[in-house]
Amino acid sequence: MTKRILILPGDGIGPEIITEAAKVLDKLAGEGLDIALDEGLVGGAAYEATGTPLPPTTLEMAREADATLLGAVGGPQWESLDISMRPEKGLLALRSELGLFANLRPAVLAPQLAAASTLKPEVVAGLDIMIVRELTGGIYFGQPRGIRTLADGEREGFNTLVYAEHEIERIMRVACDIAMQRDKRLCSVDKANVLECTELWREVATRIVQHEYPDIQLSHLYVDNAAMQLVKWPKQFDVMVTTNMFGDILSDCAAMLTGSIGMLGSASLNEKGQGLYEPIHGSAPDIAGQNIANPLAAILSVAMMLRHSLHEPAQADRIETAVNQVLDDGLRTPDILSVGMTEVSCAEMGDAVCAAL
Ligand code: NAD
Repeated sequence: MTKRILILPGDGIGPEIITEAAKVLDKLAGEGLDIALDEGLVGGAAYEATGTPLPPTTLEMAREADATLLGAVGGPQWESLDISMRPEKGLLALRSELGLFANLRPAVLAPQLAAASTLKPEVVAGLDIMIVRELTGGIYFGQPRGIRTLADGEREGFNTLVYAEHEIERIMRVACDIAMQRDKRLCSVDKANVLECTELWREVATRIVQHEYPDIQLSHLYVDNAAMQLVKWPKQFDVMVTTNMFGDILSDCAAMLTGSIGMLGSASLNEKGQGLYEPIHGSAPDIAGQNIANPLAAILSVAMMLRHSLHEPAQADRIETAVNQVLDDGLRTPDILSVGMTEVSCAEMGDAVCAAL
């Protein structure tokens, strides 16, 4: 069956990097991969054309698609808009409308780029971690929440950390399925010594692994220790799974271990296996339109799409190998350029990956 992919270039460098990612998809389609590409509007581009950052047609197309590939949204020209009309609102609405509860954030550092990290090369060279963050529950969504005035007139802010068992079970299964495709080591991160909610998290994690994934080696870390270990010796980790807020913080920390924001893709999955795939970086308005953005995060997002939504792991491996090849060949966009390497444009990098494929 033909797999439908919705392409949403978005704003800033989004169209430039997505053009290169689409070249890779076109190349695979030309070799027989059964996919069909549609294109839609999101973010500031959608606001300008339709008056809303997530037009109903875009949402409908995303619901129908097997997977969506997004560039980035946002830019200074839309910062003064009412918050409901800002480009970022379109992306948040897309995530929640599709029920994307599992956020996959790899932190991978090609050995060729180890010098880009602020950590010592031996600590990070060859780093390959997958962080699985719960995305639609926890303290960011728990009720009650708000700011109230107490009897004595003092104001008090409050939020609720809440996870039902089924929410923990489904994110654990996603993390376990990924661990099974990798080194079968899973580290669940919580704060079970202080928060009852994550005491339940730890209990459910243990049960799911024991009953359903006996081959996985499960460990548990408190979030404060996990943060220390990520910076101390990140290569000890294979797959990490954690709550929405802890994952928000740890995944950014892990991304920065790699030093290069233009190299990392991400995926957000729902229960049907549909996914939204996007680079972790933003729309980079400072370099938009100059053909100097790094398209590799977008191209590696395509690899994630092939692996996690289109069930084409061999094609995903091919893309990752091709990216590795162009780095070995010394090709670098300006953001990852170092002495002795060859500077290439965004489009030249995309062409080089296609050639290496
Ligand atoms: P950013 O990630 O866009 O840029 C941070 C820095 O990294 C900039 O110097 C930029 O030039 C550089 N950079 C980012 N991606 C790059 C790439 N592929 N190649 C080379 N250099 C790259 O973050 P920001 O500046 O904080 O935000 C800019 C806009 O993007 C804002 O409107 C923000 O709201 C939006 N944003 C969107 C997303 C998203 O769409 N998922 C995520 C973050 C920020």
